[in-house]
Amino acid sequence: MSSIAVAGANVDTRHWINGERVASAETFTNISPIDGTFLGEISRGSQAEADAAVAAAKAAFPAWAALGPKGRGEILHRIADLVEANIETLSMLETMDNGSLLRSHRRGVMPRVALNIRFFADWAINELHHEAFETRGHSNNISWDPSGVAALITPWNAPLMLATWKIGPALAAGDTVVLKPAEWTPLSASYFADLTKQAGLPDGVFNVVQGFGREVGAALVANPDLARISFTGSVPTAKVIARSAADNLTPISFELGGKSPCIVLEDADLDLAVTLAVEQYDNAGQVCLSGTRILVHENIADAFAKKFREKALQIKQGDPRDEDTDIGPQIHQVHFDRIKGFVDRAKAEGQEFVMGGEPNAELGGLYFKPTLVKNPAPGSEILTAEVFGPVLCMQTFSTDEEAVAMANGTEFGLAAILVSGNRERADRVSKQLVAGTIWVNCFFVRDLKAPFGGSRKSGIGREGGTWSFDFYADVKNTVVSPTGWKE
Ligand code: ADP
Repeated sequence: MSSIAVAGANVDTRHWINGERVASAETFTNISPIDGTFLGEISRGSQAEADAAVAAAKAAFPAWAALGPKGRGEILHRIADLVEANIETLSMLETMDNGSLLRSHRRGVMPRVALNIRFFADWAINELHHEAFETRGHSNNISWDPSGVAALITPWNAPLMLATWKIGPALAAGDTVVLKPAEWTPLSASYFADLTKQAGLPDGVFNVVQGFGREVGAALVANPDLARISFTGSVPTAKVIARSAADNLTPISFELGGKSPCIVLEDADLDLAVTLAVEQYDNAGQVCLSGTRILVHENIADAFAKKFREKALQIKQGDPRDEDTDIGPQIHQVHFDRIKGFVDRAKAEGQEFVMGGEPNAELGGLYFKPTLVKNPAPGSEILTAEVFGPVLCMQTFSTDEEAVAMANGTEFGLAAILVSGNRERADRVSKQLVAGTIWVNCFFVRDLKAPFGGSRKSGIGREGGTWSFDFYADVKNTVVSPTGWKE
């Protein structure tokens, strides 16, 4: 069977290579985390499919590059139009595949997917320029040239959203693309491939290979014909990919994990602080940006904890297709077991759980209760490792300096949330925090123009706005002399 019906849509289960569907002899099983429903058997790619996809992308590159930003932009806008026309189908597919909320896909995520394509298409046309400047009469002219084939490796927690955050700028920059979606969420990328065809994207410009990271993913990133590798995922996988990229000196952009702090200063608006802290359970905690370490000033800690508990206990866990559900299941049994492992070990260590700490027995399956650990022991696993589930830690501090030291006391540096009632103080503290993004009295406000990425082990490089083009394109300076002209 080469296609499956999911949520009323036909989704092809094969790869998308050179504008055609290509099957593998082997398949892997895709199930829905919502209730374990069997969704279908998906082509399980290997070296051959990775090589074929890169070869197709390489062959398609010269013509795509030659089209220029305007020509490419027209096609990219048509893709975005088709995404918008298919928001309902894409939303349902994504929810069935990864268990995140249908309502947020409909209202926020899928419109953003379309915007990811439009924004970078327009940026390449209108914004990607640098004022020429003179050096002893010579003019420096900076351009962003297409670089070749970009391999994009993406995770399962926000599949199409994170894929198009890379596909948009890569294609707008004039690169051609091979996307390897996560094996737990193959569907939206496959459906998206059909939309690119309908939009008139030339064959080979965008390719999708399905399968496991250590199989087709590893084969893809080892390909010497790649010009770029952009990866979003975990630190251990990043190290494997970086080693592979090193053999070919392929430039990499990595967006990795986090153990971000959510700092509540003594002067914070308590209701706002509680709202922001409880939001860290969104997507069942499967968000790299999540502020999973809540640091609260000791003088307000009791009041905060009381309000936090009241609000968090109101979170409605259930079927992500229901309009009133706040958080759904974890993505997969393997991941669920991993989260439970962290929690069970923390319990065995005697850590204090003030909420949750166990699967949601009423719902069964992959639903894990929102969990809060109070004052975890310094250096303990639950406090330092990325759990990537609905598990938050709460600690207290007595001075701003202590808060900063605790916030920065991690190997990660993706994001930080700071809640304070005083602008000067917030400014002083945020300047001392090590992270790619600091949110002051807010969370998850992400402009596509802004640089995005992590410090320390949370990533290498920044994407967003011109930063995306700095990565996907070959940035070139043409220095023109005032002399030597014959006309
Ligand atoms: P997670 O722990 O969130 O599943 P991973 O970093 O393992 O994160 O996975 C993110 C993406 O990286 C997925 O698409 C996965 O298939 C891919 N991947 C995993 N291992 C490799 C590898 N060795 N080479 C290339 N891609 C890989």
